[in-house]
Amino acid sequence: MLEVRDVHSGYGSTVILQDVSLRVDEGEVVTIVGANGAGKTTTLRTISGLVTPVAGSVHFDGEEISKLQPHEVVDRGITLIPEGRQLFPDMSVRENLMMGAYRRAARSAQAQTLEEVLDLFPRLGERLEQHASSLSGGEQQMVAIARGMMARPRLLMFDEPSLGLAPIIVEQVFDVISKVARTGTTVLIVEQNVFHTLKAADRGYVLENGEMVLDDAADALLRNDHVRQAYLGI
Ligand code: ATP
Repeated sequence: MLEVRDVHSGYGSTVILQDVSLRVDEGEVVTIVGANGAGKTTTLRTISGLVTPVAGSVHFDGEEISKLQPHEVVDRGITLIPEGRQLFPDMSVRENLMMGAYRRAARSAQAQTLEEVLDLFPRLGERLEQHASSLSGGEQQMVAIARGMMARPRLLMFDEPSLGLAPIIVEQVFDVISKVARTGTTVLIVEQNVFHTLKAADRGYVLENGEMVLDDAADALLRNDHVRQAYLGI
């Protein structure tokens, strides 16, 4: 479904990603793990069309998307849930969710999608008219995920969904991501919380200093010596 081929990309003359390749098949949950500054966000920004690769290419359903504008990438069915959630704080939960439904294919089905999304996030149904800023950090992350679902994406990408959340809330966020995956949405997660994301994923990649150094089944990565020492503190 998604194929990133030998991508080099960065900002201005600063190259961050070097020869990065990865693949996500339909229905999979795939994760990219790595430390602060490894280039995880840059990878998602490159797939989203926010950063144009200087070499290599990105393909979605066989079509090259690396030169498309971000809104054209969204129209193909790829949605990014950004790090830090980026909700509209003074807008209600309902208004925030509706902002997610701007993708052409989602507009006509807004009401039905909202019902489906609220089935996945029942607690948001009780808070639809509240300002987003009045919610807890965990609830705000749920709104950010629900807003992403409102676009009816085929591929949903998460940038550090566990960032800044208490451990018990982190578990809830990964439970919700697993539920999202069970609806048939393909998922790509970048995370520093290596344990939880590998538990939730089918396959994973390890990104270090802008290069992919490992890729394997998620359970194999959980047993990998390098991953255990560098990321799990075992
Ligand atoms: P983090 O967990 O800190 O977000 P990350 O793995 O997502 O880490 P990136 O955000 O992709 O890493 O950043 C990789 C490198 O790119 C860092 O050295 C960062 O300083 C640099 N960088 C990020 N955004 C820009 C930008 N707009 N202009 C210049 N350099 C940038």
